[in-house]
Amino acid sequence: MMDGERFRVATTVSLAEVDPAGTADFSGGKEKGRAAQAKLTKRLEALQELLFASGTERLLIVLQAMDTGGKDGVIRSVFDGVNPQGVKVASFKRPTDLELAHDYLWRVHPRVPAKGEITIFNRSHYEDVLVVRVHNLVPTARWERRFHQINEFEEMLVEEGTTILKFFLHISRDEQKARLQARLDDPSKHWKFSLGDLAERERWDDYQAAYEDVLNQTSSPHAPWYVVPSDRKWFRDLVIATVLVETLDKMGLEYPTHPDDLSGVVIS
Ligand code: ATP
Ligand code: MG
Repeated sequence: MMDGERFRVATTVSLAEVDPAGTADFSGGKEKGRAAQAKLTKRLEALQELLFASGTERLLIVLQAMDTGGKDGVIRSVFDGVNPQGVKVASFKRPTDLELAHDYLWRVHPRVPAKGEITIFNRSHYEDVLVVRVHNLVPTARWERRFHQINEFEEMLVEEGTTILKFFLHISRDEQKARLQARLDDPSKHWKFSLGDLAERERWDDYQAAYEDVLNQTSSPHAPWYVVPSDRKWFRDLVIATVLVETLDKMGLEYPTHPDDLSGVVIS
């Protein structure tokens, strides 16, 4: 059994010191890893149903990564077989004019999970201290204040009963190159290829620095960040499935008792 907590950002993290291809102390390769994850995903399926049935808890999962980092892959693999009715995905793209006319959390708050729901943020409000910072879209003083604003926003959500887990899918620059090249070489993957990704790749170091600040300033006990080594897709999925199952297990969910006495019910 793996310990998902070892990937949690509890003290200062330096991304250069986290090996994106690492597999921690997992004894076994891809085959064992995939098998272990499939088992966890089965449990996730049952736990999600329990979460929905009990209707008391909300789970928010934030996914952030460099381009090709694997956000889509995580959603596909880790949630494979989980009932889509209880899981929502909210993708945050470049803001619309209407969104830009408001504060940056305006589009985020309506997408947070309701009771019984799991919501996955595919990108999130963290873009407002990442891409916005790297491209100087607002003055420095403004994005700097957002760290504490985001912390307070998340703390409010947690105090009101939401559980928050945040995952940074950590890939290496070489791995990104290989994944971009693979998309370029395969016409059926061209729809995923964007020339804009190459421009962002040029700013790799700026993004790493921005991510490091995010991790160090916004990982708290109530809304922790996990740095997930993600060059190996199977290990990435295994870590995330492990943390999700550990978290849901800890909620101690129970099926609700029925409001009616069903003991004497006869179906004719
Ligand atoms: P895919 O895997 O499909 O490429 P993606 O999440 O990269 O998924 P894209 O449509 O390619 O989706 O990219 C979304 C873009 O929107 C990203 O470049 C991201 O940085 C940008 N974006 C998201 N939020 C903001 C924001 N608040 N301000 C400016 N840009 C943003
Ligand atoms: Mg993209």
